[in-house]
Amino acid sequence: MGFANSTMAGRCDMEDFSSLKRSDDSLFTFTHDGIVHHPEGGASYICRKELIKSVLRQLGLIPPDARFLPEFDPTAESLSNSQPLDLPAFDSGISLSPDGQGSSVTIYVHIGAQPNNSPHTGTITVFAAAFVFARALQTTYAALRERALSMGMDTSGWVDALRAVVQLDIVDTAPDSSKTTRVDGITYQRSHRSTGAMGSFLPDYHTLLSSLSDFVDGQVEYSVTYQDALMRMPAMRDALRAIILDRQRVEAELAPETECLAIRSACPVDGCGMADKHGIRNQYAVDAGSTTITFRCPDHGEYSVRLEDPDARARIELNTPLRNLARTLVYMADSDASRIRGQSVPQRIHTRVTGADYQGTYQEQFLYRQLAFLADDMKLPLKALFPVFMYVPLIVDWSGAKLSKSYYVRKNAYEYLKPRGMEYLLEYRKMVEEGKDVEVLFRMVEGWFDEPKKLNSRVYSLEYVNLMFATAGQQRPVVVRTLDVVRRKEYAWLAVGLFVGYVLSKVVA
Ligand SMILES: [Zn+2]
Repeated sequence: MGFANSTMAGRCDMEDFSSLKRSDDSLFTFTHDGIVHHPEGGASYICRKELIKSVLRQLGLIPPDARFLPEFDPTAESLSNSQPLDLPAFDSGISLSPDGQGSSVTIYVHIGAQPNNSPHTGTITVFAAAFVFARALQTTYAALRERALSMGMDTSGWVDALRAVVQLDIVDTAPDSSKTTRVDGITYQRSHRSTGAMGSFLPDYHTLLSSLSDFVDGQVEYSVTYQDALMRMPAMRDALRAIILDRQRVEAELAPETECLAIRSACPVDGCGMADKHGIRNQYAVDAGSTTITFRCPDHGEYSVRLEDPDARARIELNTPLRNLARTLVYMADSDASRIRGQSVPQRIHTRVTGADYQGTYQEQFLYRQLAFLADDMKLPLKALFPVFMYVPLIVDWSGAKLSKSYYVRKNAYEYLKPRGMEYLLEYRKMVEEGKDVEVLFRMVEGWFDEPKKLNSRVYSLEYVNLMFATAGQQRPVVVRTLDVVRRKEYAWLAVGLFVGYVLSKVVA
């Protein structure tokens, strides 16, 4: 027992390096060589150049039989330099829609936020990625379609125009941690929606979106929605019903600690707003045409929500994995419902840009595995609607841990950034106040899409990002950097030219 305790204590101490700080240990003042590597691995090796084309194919927008010769590289021209599109470009001469208006598809590029602080560098890079990704979908699709036409391909499987819209989904149902209480061993929370705590941060999100819109020259539209809009979508009833009907399996897999579905609804009594955080005391009643969840407030007793009533449904809140699952099903259903006769692809497609912490096990076990069961229950063709996500590199601290707003806000973390003048990386507001050029981050993200090896399976440290800001003002003009790129080739040709000239002069002589 004593041994176990000392082992435990030893393990805790192993991670506490803070005592070394006072000793001015060289471990805390190490230097690096300033050279950045981008080793390729996993998906980055596959998608060296054709990232966006492969996404367009996954979204079902390029017919499988449309093949492009290797010499055509739609990303050869930097995405940042691509020409603005004239949308819609109904130039195929093939009218696929019944009204003869030309066929089109809108891709909703979703991003999410729980505005419990001003956006930090991680959030800003995800937002920037959504705009750059959306623009790249538009320009690459148009370029490939033009190419298909010029090659004389049958373009009946293509739509005339692709429009991408960035949609910020604000999760106002996230718990306001200062309002969490425990009663009889059950955790109750009040959400930001009921406490109104996020009001002071929302303007920062709007300013950021507007700056990004300017950054992409207005080529990408954007919109902002709240959770109730998602909950009101008709398919949400079917998605929640499918989850509730299969809850024995779903709750055991998605909530291994509580083995309960974390579906909540704030107590409707004025001034209360308490919600059973993990859904421990929820009761479910399902019959042919009705799905009812009964919640329990410790002060005011039971209250029920019938999922068939959109207004009642709008008051439902879901925890993160459940929300991820439910909204993916809803978006798949929305795509399916948007199909019109004579058009090969749906009118609406949904995709999501999110931080790379949602990559891997999270998505595989809590989303894709669940879809295999639930899409079937909802009679959704999973193969045709398979969701596509774009993961954005995490911004990490010195230890490699992702930047966390809750640690910053609640636990006073990242003190070490202050003396280095790097605190601005924690808050968009501070960045703007300190006169930092936020476009440095936007351009960094744009570069990731220009060279996908910088995007896939990669994290970036705060120190790296700080260097980006530090050197941004000193960078040589674009033309000089471009010359550097071509220089090696040019030198080779110049050498060949000189040699040939020398040989010819000898021959003539
Ligand atoms: Zn209550």
